[in-house]
Amino acid sequence: MTDLHSKKTLIIGGSRGIGAAIVRRFVQDGAHVAFTYSGSHDAAQALSAETGATAIRSDAADRQQVVDVVAQQGPLDILVVNAGVAMIGDPLTFEADAVDRMIDINVRAPFYAAVEAARTMADGGRIIVIGSVNGDAVPFAGAAAYAMTKSALQGMARGLARDLGERGITVNIIQPGPVDTDMNPADGEIAGMVMPFMAIKRYGKATEIAGMAAYLAGAEASYITGAMHTIDGGFGA
Ligand code: NDP
Repeated sequence: MTDLHSKKTLIIGGSRGIGAAIVRRFVQDGAHVAFTYSGSHDAAQALSAETGATAIRSDAADRQQVVDVVAQQGPLDILVVNAGVAMIGDPLTFEADAVDRMIDINVRAPFYAAVEAARTMADGGRIIVIGSVNGDAVPFAGAAAYAMTKSALQGMARGLARDLGERGITVNIIQPGPVDTDMNPADGEIAGMVMPFMAIKRYGKATEIAGMAAYLAGAEASYITGAMHTIDGGFGA
């Protein structure tokens, strides 16, 4: 447990997978949580009914919707940007519009959400973005575009940490390895590629990522900023 009592929290992309685990964990730890979703209306409503968190439909691919939802929910104590999509495959066959959409969701949304949150965020606030171990390492083919988006978050976090440090606002990236979700099921195609690289021979659990997010959001983590936090079962070791 981390004490997040009454912390006003917005989680961008919270309807499923890692984001839903973060919603559950932050509610358990006492935060006042709102989360966004785009396509998964039923899952979002069910999670809202289960946890009491507020579900808001807002498309992370649309800059104005991102800025508006952050402004409407602010001032925030904690912003978590989890929404992400992955295109894995031969880059020569990718549709350019789909690549651009991934960049919108994985890179532009975190940046504009963080900047908008920072306008009104209380001193000592927290900005946490879910990146990927692929921001550091790409030990198989087909992940160039996805890895590009996750590496971009590293520079953003380093820079914003310096922009916001005087206010005690920390900016951190969590870099998961393979985590069992709809995006990357433990029994899916990607598993065959990643398992040889695992030191701990299993997929991670979304709750394990949520635990790291809670720690970074809590009071004990006030001296951690501009940093990447890998949680990958030794994938990148
Ligand atoms: P899932 O596909 O299981 O869930 C993705 C979540 O993001 C959903 O809640 C989805 O909501 C939301 N989302 C996606 N697009 C949008 C959008 N345009 N607007 C609003 N919300 C959106 O993915 P994971 O839980 O696995 O991944 C979460 C994050 O973790 C991503 O950033 C991913 O890149 C990262 N990650 C995942 C790894 C893994 O192995 N699973 C490994 C490393 C990093 P909805 O369905 O309602 O649109």
